[in-house]
Amino acid sequence: MPTILQVSIPVALYTSFDYLLPAHISPASVQIGIRVKVPFGASRKLVGIVIGLTDKTNIPTSKLKPISALLDSSPLIPQELLQLIQWASRYYHYPLGMAFDVALPSSLMQGKNTQSDAVTVWRLAEMELNSQHKLTEQQQKLIQLLQQYPQGIAKSAIENQLKNAGITLRSLEKKGLIIQEEVGQYGSEQPQHLRLNSAQKQAVNQVCAHLNQFYPSLLDGVTGSGKTEVYLQIIQQVIEQNKQTLLLIPEINLTPQTVARFRQRYQVPIAVIHSKLSMQERLQTWLQARDGKISIIIGTRSAIWTPFLKLGIIIVDEEHDDSYKQQNSLRYSARNIAIVRAQKLNIPVILGSATPSLESLYNAKQGRYQHIVLPERAGVALHPAFKIINMQHQQANYPISQVLQNNIQACLDQQQQVLLFINRRGYAPILQCPSCEWVAQCTDCEINMTYHKMTQTLHCHHCNKQYSVDLICPQCQHPQLKPLGQGTERIEEILQQYFPEACILRIDSDSTSRKHAMSDLINKINAGEADILVGTQILAKGHHFENVTLVGVINIDGGLFGADYRSAEQMAQLFTQVSGRAGRVEKKGLVIVQTFFPDHPLLKHLIQKGYHAFAHEHLIERELTAYPPFSYLAVLRAESAIKEDALHFLEMARLEAKYLIDDEVMQLHAPIEAPIQKRVGKYRAQLLLQSSNRTLLHESLSQWLPKLPSSGKKIHWSLDVDPIDLL
Ligand code: ADP
Ligand code: ZN
Ligand code: ZN
Repeated sequence: MPTILQVSIPVALYTSFDYLLPAHISPASVQIGIRVKVPFGASRKLVGIVIGLTDKTNIPTSKLKPISALLDSSPLIPQELLQLIQWASRYYHYPLGMAFDVALPSSLMQGKNTQSDAVTVWRLAEMELNSQHKLTEQQQKLIQLLQQYPQGIAKSAIENQLKNAGITLRSLEKKGLIIQEEVGQYGSEQPQHLRLNSAQKQAVNQVCAHLNQFYPSLLDGVTGSGKTEVYLQIIQQVIEQNKQTLLLIPEINLTPQTVARFRQRYQVPIAVIHSKLSMQERLQTWLQARDGKISIIIGTRSAIWTPFLKLGIIIVDEEHDDSYKQQNSLRYSARNIAIVRAQKLNIPVILGSATPSLESLYNAKQGRYQHIVLPERAGVALHPAFKIINMQHQQANYPISQVLQNNIQACLDQQQQVLLFINRRGYAPILQCPSCEWVAQCTDCEINMTYHKMTQTLHCHHCNKQYSVDLICPQCQHPQLKPLGQGTERIEEILQQYFPEACILRIDSDSTSRKHAMSDLINKINAGEADILVGTQILAKGHHFENVTLVGVINIDGGLFGADYRSAEQMAQLFTQVSGRAGRVEKKGLVIVQTFFPDHPLLKHLIQKGYHAFAHEHLIERELTAYPPFSYLAVLRAESAIKEDALHFLEMARLEAKYLIDDEVMQLHAPIEAPIQKRVGKYRAQLLLQSSNRTLLHESLSQWLPKLPSSGKKIHWSLDVDPIDLL
């Protein structure tokens, strides 16, 4: 019987650690995937995960310590998830113990207990409501909601629709008007689906014919073409097979309607995973999904680490979205892991987008993914017309051109809605002294701070530092610092002057940070209570507003000259997503683009030929320059308080790599200062590694990383595999 446990613990080392099983614990009670408490170093006790059992070790048995305790009697982490995390640890070259720390609910790694609760729903009790019951407005609303769900509705779903749901539920339960019930039989009812058009039907049939095998597909259709309806009807068949679904979406707070639509459609238990869950909620959802008590998980990036009893399909909506890539610690791409996981499980995976990433389009072209196209909007809306406004011919300081103004007025006259896009929040990106030319800068990042008028503060949009400001120049005491340029707040202010009667809504991360704020705004828009929407890229994410007929792009220029190899792709996606908000069934939409560079080829190309033509040509450029998907990248980043330290560290690392690795296998670029040179007080530098062979790249990295020069406390370094930018 093996009596040595290989334990993974959350420390920054690439190895696992061997421990002895004390004599009083039977080897039969130890399995891979359970947690143990182990002594580490002089006095620490850590929670680790058993990843192997053996009777051999390189370490003399006399030096091995015994574990302190077993925390689980059966494996906490299913084999499949355990192996997925091990795979990610190898692929991203990130220590396994720390990868567990990222992927698992934090309360598990603190050694908390792990019973999954029953999944319950609330429903009306048999008791009749009468005039004796004096109900508050909230209580009445809740009763009305429950009346729509005779089978009961989950608390989390109620919370989606009602403020202070917890208190109201308890008060009504006390009155005996409602009861909580364990979910038993579900899924018996056939939900009301929409009648699919032929492209949708084809998409559903194609995926459903391959439900029991690895079947990756790219569902390529503009916003409003009916992708979500396709997901819903495929999931119906997955439910009928008694299997679970994982749906990844970029940001839940921004797309509350998607979740609501799922809840309305199905009786099965649905849970939502996002960053605002409490530790307890997160743990319970994790356990309930693992035990098969939840049928559908809808979640952001981290939901890819949810364990399932019987996962039947993974869907990644808006697959091009950068939020699927984690930008710290374990720098994983949830979209890419979805593919790997589906392959290991032998199930279908759908990547959906109106503007697929070049990588996914290329994979589809190569035949690695099925390319399923939904060509038109479900309601047969027309494609919008475009008008370019050359801002060089405008008066300075008037960010809204006469043409745009006139068109806004025309829309307002016809009671149609206008959407104005500007990719910057706050009031102005620069606050300057008109006398001595002092400019407000973040001392830690050496970039200009954005002036926010609403809160009278300066924000650094890099490191989030905020100061209050009083508009007096700190250098020459001039009494009136001057905001230059514009963000959402200023555009809102200008519009209010031009159109005093109009109801203007500002939609950016400042105005939507409060819980429910986004759903409140969307409800207002859909109820026709708003006339003009001013917003950042948040507005481009998945929403389709029926009554918007005019989209104005206030300034696109920043995106045209991005420094990064993916700038053009990102700009094309954003531009296409934003302009896709215009138009509806009866009336052709109009997109007005304001720019100082009306002849910029990228802009012209996008407008004349559309996203897919752009993508096609840009792929050719990527091939010529040997950037992904025509090569594989990894970037070693280093940060230090003194600029030269980071560069020196990378230079030493490069020499080490040169010695270890054949030039043919991996191209080593010279270390350079990062385009964003400084962040939070640290200078940044990077070393780019590039290879046409993924396997060889990874083999080289495995040899090289353990040999990196020791960096001490002066340098913080990290490796980013498949980086989504080199900034
Ligand atoms: P996407 O996810 O591609 O943006 P949706 O599935 O949300 O598209 O569909 C957009 C709109 O069209 C929704 O209001 C939806 O209810 C409607 N819709 C989708 N499919 C159909 C259909 N087959 N018949 C009628 N309306 C549909
Ligand atoms: Zn001054
Ligand atoms: Zn800063």
